Amino acid sequence: MRETADIVVIGAGALGCSVSYHLANLGAKNILVLDKGAICSGETSKSGGFVQTHWVSLDEVRLITRSRELFWEWEDNFGADCAYVETGYLHVTGEEREPTVRSIHEMLLSEGIESHWLDRREIKKLQPIINVSDLTAAAFEPRSGWANPVKAVQSLAAAAQSKGVEFAEGVTVRQISHRGGKIDGVETDQGFVSTRCVVLCAGPWTPLLHPLASMPLPIKAKRGQVCYINRPGGLPKNELAFYDEVTGIYTHTDGDTSLLGIDFDFTDVWDPNRYNRTIDEDYVEMALGALAHRFPILGTAQLVRGVVGLYDFTPDGHPIVDGPIGLDGYYVAAGFSGAGFKSSPMMGLGLAELILKGKAETVNIDFVSFARYRDSDHWIGW
Ligand SMILES: Cc1cc2nc3c(=O)[nH]c(=O)nc-3n(C[C@H](O)[C@H](O)[C@H](O)COP(=O)(O)OP(=O)(O)OC[C@H]3O[C@@H](n4cnc5c(N)ncnc54)[C@H](O)[C@@H]3O)c2cc1C
Repeated sequence: MRETADIVVIGAGALGCSVSYHLANLGAKNILVLDKGAICSGETSKSGGFVQTHWVSLDEVRLITRSRELFWEWEDNFGADCAYVETGYLHVTGEEREPTVRSIHEMLLSEGIESHWLDRREIKKLQPIINVSDLTAAAFEPRSGWANPVKAVQSLAAAAQSKGVEFAEGVTVRQISHRGGKIDGVETDQGFVSTRCVVLCAGPWTPLLHPLASMPLPIKAKRGQVCYINRPGGLPKNELAFYDEVTGIYTHTDGDTSLLGIDFDFTDVWDPNRYNRTIDEDYVEMALGALAHRFPILGTAQLVRGVVGLYDFTPDGHPIVDGPIGLDGYYVAAGFSGAGFKSSPMMGLGLAELILKGKAETVNIDFVSFARYRDSDHWIGW
């Protein structure tokens, strides 16, 4: 591992690999990415990989839409496949949430993004195994789907390496070092790396490494769980990506296995180094019960394996992607609140431009500034 670098990126997940690729692609040199594990061994490896534009905030929708264009042509852009499957994304709703779903659908249309409004008959035609008894409508995006996050991030890392970025795996950063209001290096378990610029992309571990106690990052780690379930034979092997406003379930299918998640209350805050990694039995029961209601033919589905990860939540559910924060040369990209994979390809570009040019030019990332957590005279924290 080198002892000096122009830029040190901490964390080789979706964000760290994206920003390091874009930095190198924009001409930056001597970039070192450090990860305590392997490339993509953090929370990105647990991601469901959903890539859909049906999302609440217009700024984020724009980033996801630009990112989706990269997912469509991933191999041409980054030299290897990310297993993006354009299954289509179906977002169903009942009466209560219909106005919200409709307004997002209309926002997508006003942006020129393809989205179709379906009534119950049309939902059933598109998805014959669904129970529509308590549904009123759906928004459908034919060009959305999901990707394999590990393949996506590994290909980004390989593309970054081909442009000269060095990755040091198995290196734990202990502390970000600064002097006189400027970054001067990072202390690791394998020695000191001298640098003037640090990009902290450590997912739920980010607050543990943040060097400024007087400017707390409002990020809390909460457990996120998903089930992988078997499917009865004879059903389509590549089903639609799906979200249900009534039951809260979301699914996509790969061969004989489906991913299945369900919305639940994120109350507990966890230490990212010590959290319960066993899926909760009541979560599985709740998800399978809701699945059986929506897709009765899947009523016999069984859990194959459970995945438990951490969501790095902020108070408003948007990440903090900003810098310099408090110190010359200090940048942060974290707090993705359980949804960072789908926007990471373009978020990384916005951050790379901010670092090298002082402003994101290709995409707008103003809405994820750290300044939104400051009131008149202090940092709000959480
Ligand atoms: C169960 C689950 C399902 C999800 N599903 C989706 C989805 O369908 N679609 C979507 O868009 N998003 C989804 N997400 C969210 C998405 O996965 C995350 O927002 C995104 O992957 C965050 O990427 P990251 O690079 O910020 O973090 P990470 O991937 O966690 O990367 C951080 C890296 O920092 C490293 N690190 C930490 N501390 C140190 C240290 N001291 N020294 C060196 N390295 C360190 C870690 O090893 C890790 O590799 C899901 C998340 C979970 C948990």
